[in-house]
Amino acid sequence: MTSAVFVDRDGVLVEDKGYVHKLEDFRMIPNAAEGLRLLGGYKLFIITNQAGLGKGIFTMGDFNKFSSHLLKELGKHSIKIEKMYFCPHKPEDNCECRKPKTKFLKDAEMEFGINLKKSFVIGDRKSDFEMGRSMGCRTIHVLTGDGVKHKNEVTPDYFAKDLVDAAQWIIENDKK
Ligand SMILES: [Zn+2]
Repeated sequence: MTSAVFVDRDGVLVEDKGYVHKLEDFRMIPNAAEGLRLLGGYKLFIITNQAGLGKGIFTMGDFNKFSSHLLKELGKHSIKIEKMYFCPHKPEDNCECRKPKTKFLKDAEMEFGINLKKSFVIGDRKSDFEMGRSMGCRTIHVLTGDGVKHKNEVTPDYFAKDLVDAAQWIIENDKK
């Protein structure tokens, strides 16, 4: 079975001042693409909560445009994302897919034959950490996005200053 790295989107790959969805606001986080490129030996997934859809702050069209732009940008660095899982619901919808719920990890396990116990979750919030920890993934909390603000709420396997740091830790510690 295959190992994977599951990465959050907002605050980890792209800058987010709240419900980011406009192409004019698109900005990669420094070292994000470089970090993912280092992880080329893993299947890469994005798992993102997009409550802005459920709240009507932006449309599926906006989301798709923003997503395509992100994937194209990553493609320029030869990075392939196997799948982007997104939750379009509001927190109060109490759906099955919003992080920290683990539906998307289980979906990837089934669809792609991923061994979650040999996989990693990278995020900047408690919900990323909790989702990963619940399924036995190793967890990395990045200090980009909201990562500094939330760092006292989590006990990850590693605190990384950015995605390059996270990638180096994964590659180093995966053998152990
Ligand atoms: Zn959901």
